Amino acid sequence: MVALMTPGVCLRCAKAMAATNDLSARAGERHKGRGLCGPCYSAARRAGTLLDYERTYRPADEVLDDLAVLRIRTPGITYRQAAEQLGMTRDALVQVVVRDRRRRETQQEQSTKERAA
Ligand SMILES: [Zn+2]
Repeated sequence: MVALMTPGVCLRCAKAMAATNDLSARAGERHKGRGLCGPCYSAARRAGTLLDYERTYRPADEVLDDLAVLRIRTPGITYRQAAEQLGMTRDALVQVVVRDRRRRETQQEQSTKERAA
């Protein structure tokens, strides 16, 4: 999954949130998901209103498919340009591509080992 935006403020309580992966902040002060801080995410889940808040993450496969389309439409497109069109940061896009490459390399190594065994 890929972050589409930096967290900013919680959509429910309007308090400033730290990034999801900012371990220097306490869990309750970090973005939990769907634009909500930890306590608000839990409260919305309990209240059955979680679906009223849109997801801020997209599956990596979807991002990779969109990137493939952009590369066909605009040969030579840079990561920065593609990221801008996909509504995400360049670093987040590069991270998706690198993780996908590693995942495929691992799968390839495993199938090579299976054939050798
Ligand atoms: Zn909140």
